[in-house]
Amino acid sequence: MTNPLYDRLFGAHLGRETPFLHLPDGSTLTHDAFLRLSSRFAHTLSDCGLAPGDRLALQVEKSPEALAVYAACAAAGVIFLPLNTAYTPAEIEYFIGNSGAKLFLCDPAKAEALRPVAQTHGARLETLAHGAGSFLALAEGRPEHFAPVPRAEDDLAAFLYTSGTTGRSKGAMLSQGNLLSNAEVLTEAWRFTDADVLLHALPVFHTHGLFVATNVMLLSGGSMLFHPKFDAAAVIRDLPRATAMMGVPTFYTRLLERDDFTRETCANMRLFVSGSAPLLAETHRRFEARTGHRILERYGMTETNMNTSNPYDGERRPGTVGLPLPGVELRICDDTGGEVARGETGVIEVLGPNVFHGYWQMPKKTAEEFREDGFFITGDLARQDADGYVTIVGRAKDLIISGGLNIYPKEIEEVIDAQPGVAESAVIGVPHPDFGESPVALVVPEGAGPDLAQVEAALAAALAGFKQPRRLVLVEALPRNTMGKVQKAALRETWRDLFAAG
Ligand code: ATP
Ligand code: MG
Repeated sequence: MTNPLYDRLFGAHLGRETPFLHLPDGSTLTHDAFLRLSSRFAHTLSDCGLAPGDRLALQVEKSPEALAVYAACAAAGVIFLPLNTAYTPAEIEYFIGNSGAKLFLCDPAKAEALRPVAQTHGARLETLAHGAGSFLALAEGRPEHFAPVPRAEDDLAAFLYTSGTTGRSKGAMLSQGNLLSNAEVLTEAWRFTDADVLLHALPVFHTHGLFVATNVMLLSGGSMLFHPKFDAAAVIRDLPRATAMMGVPTFYTRLLERDDFTRETCANMRLFVSGSAPLLAETHRRFEARTGHRILERYGMTETNMNTSNPYDGERRPGTVGLPLPGVELRICDDTGGEVARGETGVIEVLGPNVFHGYWQMPKKTAEEFREDGFFITGDLARQDADGYVTIVGRAKDLIISGGLNIYPKEIEEVIDAQPGVAESAVIGVPHPDFGESPVALVVPEGAGPDLAQVEAALAAALAGFKQPRRLVLVEALPRNTMGKVQKAALRETWRDLFAAG
C-alpha cells in the first residue's frame, strides 16, 4: 500500500540529517526533524477526528509548522486547504463554509475574531504559529512516526483557491497526481538536486510558493532559505548563500531598484525563475545587464500548476513564457475550441496530468471550462511563434472590444511603461456610447512624472489609431491583490462611468 505524494516528497527523506529549512533566526531544521514534527501533527489530525477526504483549512503566517501541516495532511489523506493571510474574517467565512472544513487552524492573534466564523460552520478551531499555538500543544508527546494512509494518485490532496483576480476565488481540486507530476517535471526541467539552496520569499498559501517552490525542494531534497516575506535588503544579504530563487516580477524590479544588488550578490546563483504575472521584457534585459543572469520565465495557474517554461539550457526568450512542459498538451484556440493558426492570438487550452479535477461545488462552472476532449480552457490569451514559444497577451476577461476590434491592454501598457516618468500603467476597457468600450490608461507617475504629450506621441508611433487610449489618467497607485496582480475588475468598476452621457 502506498501514498505516492507522501512517499515521494516527504517519506523519502526519513532519517536524513541534512538541512531542509534555514530559518530567519539562524537556526536550521533538518529533513528528519521536519518529518518527525509532521508525524506528530498527523497523529494529532486523527486525534481531532479527521479522516481521509476531510478538509483542513489553515490561515497562518509562513512557518515550518505550516509546511508540517501540509506534510501531515498528505500522510493522513486529509485535504489541505491553505488560505491567504490577508483575508479578513468575513472573507474566511466564505472559504470555511464553501469547503466544509472540519478543522481550521489560525494564527493565535486572530483566534478571537475567527472563532465565531468557525462556530457558524461547525469547524473545530485551533491555533498555530511558529513555536506556539494550541495545535502544537495537542501534538506534544505524540509519536514521531506515522504510517501514511494508503492513497491513489487520483485522490484529492488539496483545495487551492484561485487568487481572485477576475472575480470570486474558486476552489481548485488538486489530486496527489497533479502535485506530484508537476513537481517531477519541474525538478527535472530546472535541474534541481539536493545540492540546491532555494531562496524562498513567497507566501506558502499560493501555488507558486507551495506547489512549485516547496514541492520541487521536497522532491529534490535540497534546502530553503525561508524568508517570512520578500524584503529586498534581507534577500540581498542572503542571496550569496543561495543557488536559486523563484519570484514574482515585482521581486525582480525591487531588487533592481537597489544599488547594493550586484553581480557579486549572485555569485553562487544558477537560476532565477519568474512567474504568476507578466515579466516585462525590459526587466529581463535590465536584470541581465546588472547580474549576467537571464531570468527564466514560466507560466501556470492554480488550476493547472505549471504549463510552460523557458528552457534551462536552450534559448530563454524575454517576453515569452517559453514552451509547453513535458507531458502538457497546449493548444491555442478560438471561442469554439478550434485551433488558430500559428502566430495568431487565441485562448490557451491545456491537457495533462497537471490539470485539476474541477472546481469544488461548482459543477456548472467546471463544465463550462472544460472541452469535451478534456482540455481545460485557461482564459489566458496568447500566441505561439514558429518555434512554439508562447507569449501571453492578457486575459480573455480583460480583452477590450472597441467598435468591433480587439485591443489587448498589455500591448498598450508596454509602450506606456517604457516612457520616462512612468512607474507603471493599467489599460482597461470603459463603456463608451459609440464604440461599446474604449481603452483608458491609468498611469502611475514616477519622480517628476511623465510628459503626457510625449506618451501620446510614443503611442501614436507604436500602435494603430483604434488602439490609442481615449484618456490617459494619472493615478497614485493601482489596486493589487496579495499576489501582486493588478485587479482590473476593480478598476473597471471605478472608471465605468467615465464616458457616460452627461
Ligand atoms: P482568479 O482565477 O481567481 O481570477 P488568478 O487567475 O490571478 O485569479 P492564479 O491561479 O493565482 O489566480 O493565477 C494564474 C494566472 O496568472 C494565469 O491564468 C495567468 O493569467 C497569470 N500568469 C501566471 N504566470 C504568468 C506569466 N508568466 N505571465 C503572464 N501571466 C501569468
Ligand atoms: Mg484564474
